[in-house]
Amino acid sequence: MAAPTLDDFESLRVLGKGSYGKVFLVRHKDSGTEKLYAMKMLRKEHVLNRNQVEHTKTERNVLEHVSHPFIVSLHYAFQTPKKLYLVLDYCPGGELFFHLSRAGRFSEGRTRFYTSELLLALEYLHSLNIIFRDLKPENVLLDENGHAKLTDFGLSKEGICDNFSARTMCGTPEYLAPELLDSKGHGKAVDWYSLGALCYEMLTGLPPYYTQDRNLLFDRIRRAALQYPQYISPVSKSLLQGLLNRQPEARLGGGPGDGLFLGGHHVAPGSLRSLWLAMAVVHGPRCRGQVPPPFKPKVAGAGDVSNFEKEFVDMPLGVSEADGRGAGPHFDGFTYQGQ
Ligand code: AMP
Repeated sequence: MAAPTLDDFESLRVLGKGSYGKVFLVRHKDSGTEKLYAMKMLRKEHVLNRNQVEHTKTERNVLEHVSHPFIVSLHYAFQTPKKLYLVLDYCPGGELFFHLSRAGRFSEGRTRFYTSELLLALEYLHSLNIIFRDLKPENVLLDENGHAKLTDFGLSKEGICDNFSARTMCGTPEYLAPELLDSKGHGKAVDWYSLGALCYEMLTGLPPYYTQDRNLLFDRIRRAALQYPQYISPVSKSLLQGLLNRQPEARLGGGPGDGLFLGGHHVAPGSLRSLWLAMAVVHGPRCRGQVPPPFKPKVAGAGDVSNFEKEFVDMPLGVSEADGRGAGPHFDGFTYQGQ
């Protein structure tokens, strides 16, 4: 089979913008099935100028090696002289952020559903010694049925088996675990903290310790007492307290064995246990993706982009490779073609 190229894809709309380029809705011209994908474009110049070569390689490698119902799949990867392209499952439900900002906050049931699916996705990554490091509502997409899919592996890291071997300070301020702030070494437990932060945001509408003042935010993440609104149930509160524990080893999911269900190592006591067990039952390996989602995104037809911000979908495509021809650095081993 010939290696994939940009000419194989027709760009239809802009879906979003990442740090290094746009994401497009595209149609594969030759598939004969009108199959739609999301095509993530990264400008090599930006990747090189901002020292992101390693992160970009990791993103490409991780995507090639993972296969999970709650993680986007990579179908093709290729490059032009100026740009890198990753062709992924298209998630027409858009970002969880889009829906959360419209709803204000989610019910406990809906929160539990997304938390459970993300929990399985993170556990799976951790079992491969991959940490995600950038869990936030913008990086959780919904498929056409309303299942969660984790996307954007640009900050993930491979080969981490513990809670302290990674060093680079990275992530998104509101979701950063305290050990990341102090650059003392971090590991898998940062993802459990971020899951707690995301869960808190789904339940309340704002991430924990929220303020627009960056220094104050970091100070609060390090030492402030977190406020829980009255409507947060006791079981949700204890779950959040477990996940947002400042000590990585004592954090829910952060203990020996990692994760909440894997090997049954770290199931929390009391009522929390029953919550987790309920999650495990409905989302356990045998029924992955089988539980009907509590919310089905409105998707009018295959190319419907109404779950994406108008700001992006109204953007001119500007995907012409006129500026992409000519010389440019080559990223070895980037090309990929799925089954
Ligand atoms: P990223 O740079 O991967 O964070 O992507 C930027 C934005 O593009 C995301 O926040 C989504 O709005 C959109 N996007 C990325 N991947 C997909 C996908 N597989 N399906 C639909 N939209 C996507």
